[in-house]
Amino acid sequence: RDTEEVLINREIFDHVRDLISKHSSDCWWNMSVEELLPQEILSRNGLGNSSDYRKGSDIIDIWFDSGTSWASVLSDDKVADVYLEGLDQFRGWFQSSLLTSVAYRGKAPFKKLVVHGFAVDEEGHKMAKSVGNVVDPGQIINGHSKATGIPYGLDVLRLWVANSGLQTKVAIGTNILDIHQEELFQLRKMLRHLLGSLRGFDVNILQTNYSDLLPQDQYLLSLLYSYGTQVTSMYEEYRFGRVLTLLQKFLSDLSKVYITISKDRLYCDSVQSPGHRSSLFVLYHTLEVLTKSIAPILPSLAEEVYKFHPQKKTSPLFHTLWYHLNPNWNNPDIEKLMSTAFTIRDKMNEVLVSEPPGNYDAIVIAKSRLYSELKKLQDAETSMDSPLCEILQTASTTLKSSQSGEVTADDKDIVIHGSHSDTQTEFTAILTKAGGSKCNRCRRNTAQSNELCQRCYDVLLQNSQLSP
Ligand SMILES: [Zn+2]
Repeated sequence: RDTEEVLINREIFDHVRDLISKHSSDCWWNMSVEELLPQEILSRNGLGNSSDYRKGSDIIDIWFDSGTSWASVLSDDKVADVYLEGLDQFRGWFQSSLLTSVAYRGKAPFKKLVVHGFAVDEEGHKMAKSVGNVVDPGQIINGHSKATGIPYGLDVLRLWVANSGLQTKVAIGTNILDIHQEELFQLRKMLRHLLGSLRGFDVNILQTNYSDLLPQDQYLLSLLYSYGTQVTSMYEEYRFGRVLTLLQKFLSDLSKVYITISKDRLYCDSVQSPGHRSSLFVLYHTLEVLTKSIAPILPSLAEEVYKFHPQKKTSPLFHTLWYHLNPNWNNPDIEKLMSTAFTIRDKMNEVLVSEPPGNYDAIVIAKSRLYSELKKLQDAETSMDSPLCEILQTASTTLKSSQSGEVTADDKDIVIHGSHSDTQTEFTAILTKAGGSKCNRCRRNTAQSNELCQRCYDVLLQNSQLSP
């Protein structure tokens, strides 16, 4: 009391330590000086009377508590892969952890630091209860979405967190959460479509050789390869927001470019046909890569998908390995080849606006370089099921070289001119009202009369012969 000197020695220290382990740290405040500092210890050490002393009321810096958490969390000499905290912690927790660990163990307690920003409202203002712009966690759990009226739930919140990335300010509010909820719906819809298409999946399809796949299927695998590779490297850099951008882009390509064109083959071709099996092969791998790629951000959804996996996986997804991408799938040549057909399709759709190309038979006349490329997508001069016809989505497609003579268009025909930028080659497409009538089964204008097209007739006949 008189000298303000600090009293510390081994025996007193051990005594207080024993009291704390027995009565918790509150005992420092509950117990008297006499209890904390027994007279017998003082006398033994020649330190006077306990009435000469007062309890210290300073607290140890909390940065020391949190800064030494590595000592409890990391056993032996281990170093954490990542410390993650707000970006204000460089002078706080990151520093106190670094200093204590370097002092005691001669090395940093972490390999990497990942920082996140601070949540602000949708206008970028700091959140405060007094302002009333705080997002209520109950709203996220129990629902208050303006658009749908159903709870956002865990997945929407996780999407928001992942999307906020490493920006310094992270806006949150119902408008932003509604956007993520819509993204989640789109993703669920796609996953459900994939699961539905793969119902009753024949595992022998997985033995299909890459070279036997249709060009448009090889194209999807090439996109899948590029998506999967980039996602892995973005995860390695903790760029979760970038993963979601890649996911949106891939979902859009998958839906607009692939699912649209392959539907007829998937739904209406014979289940034994090479084209149908080729599509299932790529959809199987797409489901696998897509599900695992979202698992770190949306674990519940990914696990839910896995429960319905076509191969009836018994082990939980998180007991399996990361996806495997076959390097053969990476195929820039097929991407180039497909770009030729996409150029014609895009130009056609631009002219037709919202009218389905399926109402027309198309004649495509191309100059030599483009013609020889397109020939790889359609061998016969006229086809209703070539890869080229599937991409253009017309009732039938006729492919001609510009050297094979003039083609005259009727007054009622739509004539489209364009050029392919890569090969600098011009083409003309003539669209004539489809000559066939609508098939009752596949709804394509490919039937001779009002009944079935030849393909559908053959499939039904085959099915009736197979069934008892
Ligand atoms: Zn049909």
